[in-house]
Amino acid sequence: MFTTSKEKLIQNLNEFSKNELVNYSFERNFDYGPPHNNVSKISPYLNKKFITEEEVVDIITKYNSIKTLNKFIEEIFWGTYWRGWLEAHPWIYDHYIKSRDDQKNLKKTGIKCFDYWKEELFETGYLHNHSRMWFASIWIFTLGYSWQSGAKLFEDNLLDYCPASNTLSWRWVAGLQTKNKPYIARADNIKFYTKNRFNPKDQINENIFSSFDFDETHNPLECKFSDYNDLKQKNDLCVILNNNDLSLNKVLEEIKLDYRCVLFKSPQKNKLKNKFQSQIYNDICSRNREIIIIESFQQMLEWLRINKIKNILFPYETVGKKLFNDPQFLNQLKSLKISYLFYLRKWDRNAFPFATKNFFKFKKHIPDLLKIANIRDKNLEN
Ligand SMILES: Cc1cc2nc3c(=O)[nH]c(=O)nc-3n(C[C@H](O)[C@H](O)[C@H](O)COP(=O)(O)OP(=O)(O)OC[C@H]3O[C@@H](n4cnc5c(N)ncnc54)[C@H](O)[C@@H]3O)c2cc1C
Repeated sequence: MFTTSKEKLIQNLNEFSKNELVNYSFERNFDYGPPHNNVSKISPYLNKKFITEEEVVDIITKYNSIKTLNKFIEEIFWGTYWRGWLEAHPWIYDHYIKSRDDQKNLKKTGIKCFDYWKEELFETGYLHNHSRMWFASIWIFTLGYSWQSGAKLFEDNLLDYCPASNTLSWRWVAGLQTKNKPYIARADNIKFYTKNRFNPKDQINENIFSSFDFDETHNPLECKFSDYNDLKQKNDLCVILNNNDLSLNKVLEEIKLDYRCVLFKSPQKNKLKNKFQSQIYNDICSRNREIIIIESFQQMLEWLRINKIKNILFPYETVGKKLFNDPQFLNQLKSLKISYLFYLRKWDRNAFPFATKNFFKFKKHIPDLLKIANIRDKNLEN
């Protein structure tokens, strides 16, 4: 279901934009099962910036007006919003990390849809959005497991795992994100939106009273980000690509800066995720022969020293995605007299300040955010 070639991904997204997007707002909630042609399946790429939001919007607006694309663009901004929201509420993620655990003895439950989705998740690393919601609701309210153990199961198995979207969506289903309004999976809704593939009538708990305690008494943090104006003055520069942003080098190409490029590979425990990662990394290297792959901090420090690197550009590490922003590693850079910057892309930099409250308030800024990103309605221009 998931190509690992950028060329093929762009081809698939063009096809999806031509054939499916016009019906997206009506069709998106139906889960017809794999290969899930009614949704884009771009999340595993978007989260790592194997393809960027700007590239996606550029492709989809070739075939559709922004008005037709409203719902799809809004969904893309859900991902941005969750990341920005968690950036302003980092303690929520810390609580999750401290309390997450593995659910032991995951046997068949006899609830056909649930057992099917669990296998689909293990086999493909993906689940349709509506099935993620049903799955999480059944996990918490029918099976009585903790939301944190469900979030951990997704964390370990989703190809598109994102600390913000995952943690906050599980909290939302549990009734923690919108206070005591849990998401209730209902048999007739599952029957309708799976086109009768499943009907767990009398098998799932639909009488839910969620009464979690609330820990969010703090105010959101104010997030301020640099505009990186001095980037052009950097010399002996190296950009370190990693899963936080696999195309950060394009930013330097746009401003015509010379740079060296390293792709940092950290192994994934899950076989499917590891294979997917290796293959997309190979694709990146096959398109740019100058990029070298490095697999450990020690090897990286050695390479930086030998190549006399003076400045490093790292992808910004949002909450839950910490990799190099570690005092010990950064001290080692200092001792080599290497300066560094954690670069947050414009798309996120412009949006995050609006993501401190609810999505409804955030959403009002989407038209302006598209304008700032230089995204115009091509259909209106022609
Ligand atoms: C319990 C639960 C856990 C989730 N965990 C993750 C996760 O770890 N990583 C992740 O990327 N998404 C997560 N989501 C959100 C959503 O399910 C996926 O982004 C979506 O299913 C990806 O499939 P797609 O690319 O085909 O989506 P499409 O419908 O084609 O949407 C296009 C893009 O919009 C964004 N998007 C769509 N819906 C959402 C949403 N509800 N929240 C945030 N972004 C959205 C994604 O970037 C997606 O690729 C979770 C949802 C739930 C209910």
